[in-house]
Amino acid sequence: MRVLRSLIEIKEVARGAGRRGTLGLVPTMGALHEGHLSLVRAARACCDTVAVTIFVNPLQFGPGEDFERYPRREEDDVALLASAGADLVILLQREQMYPERFATTVSQPELGADYEGVQRLGHFDGVLTVVAKLFGIVGPCKAFFGQKDFQQTVVVRQLAEDLDMPVEVIVCPIVRDADGLALSSRNAYLDAEQRRRGLGLVTALQAAEALFEGGERSSAALEATLDEELRRALGQAPDYAVVVDPSDLSRPAEARAGCMLLVAGRLGSTRLLDNHRLGSPLGPFATGA
Ligand code: AMP
Repeated sequence: MRVLRSLIEIKEVARGAGRRGTLGLVPTMGALHEGHLSLVRAARACCDTVAVTIFVNPLQFGPGEDFERYPRREEDDVALLASAGADLVILLQREQMYPERFATTVSQPELGADYEGVQRLGHFDGVLTVVAKLFGIVGPCKAFFGQKDFQQTVVVRQLAEDLDMPVEVIVCPIVRDADGLALSSRNAYLDAEQRRRGLGLVTALQAAEALFEGGERSSAALEATLDEELRRALGQAPDYAVVVDPSDLSRPAEARAGCMLLVAGRLGSTRLLDNHRLGSPLGPFATGA
């Protein structure tokens, strides 16, 4: 495995790999966990070369968000990537990605407006801009993203389609802890009580799925169940709890199998996200001792 830090070298090595065979890219912000590593393994299974980028992208953090305190664990990350089978680890710095003359922003006013877009103004402009840059720098033919950030997968797919980028966007399943909590680098911020409360996201999704399996098709009814369960767990209203169409994130009045449940909420200063595809199993999970 090679660790690359210079843009010239990164472009040279990645493009060489892209010419010789299939090159897969896994973009991350580091502080890696099994969720990230599952993307690396998925890439390993179908690509000749697997490149992983680590860049804490300032553009996708809003003012007052956790950019400064976002966990940075470069040495551990590099070791984990070696064990997961990455070929290239690409470490990027702010000045390389956004030099003084940098002037372009990629934006999707519609798909990026709701849900996370309301909670994190400008977030998806930051995501789209960095993903477009990473695609440009690395030149992958496949790029791997987690369903954990469902809205992100929709905007990134649209980016590749709209700008005719020759990249296949592959979405990998959510990796969860044994108790069901979706893995996230931000889980490290939670104390024991908050972590317990955080399980409310997955129990809310399970409750809505059970209702759907019982025949309920009203999105309003499913959303009311999500909202109720989340209020109980979080001690406050969730940021959002919605049934959406997976293709365009619109809100159907009637839910069908394949629609997505998207939930997000706050525990102290930490935001947690989760989601679930209606009509598919979720759990059972181990209960805490
Ligand atoms: P991040 O480092 O948070 O930007 O995440 C990098 C990639 O890992 C994104 O595509 C995420 O959706 C994905 N990811 C994060 N957590 C998980 C998880 N629990 N399961 C699967 N993928 C994940």
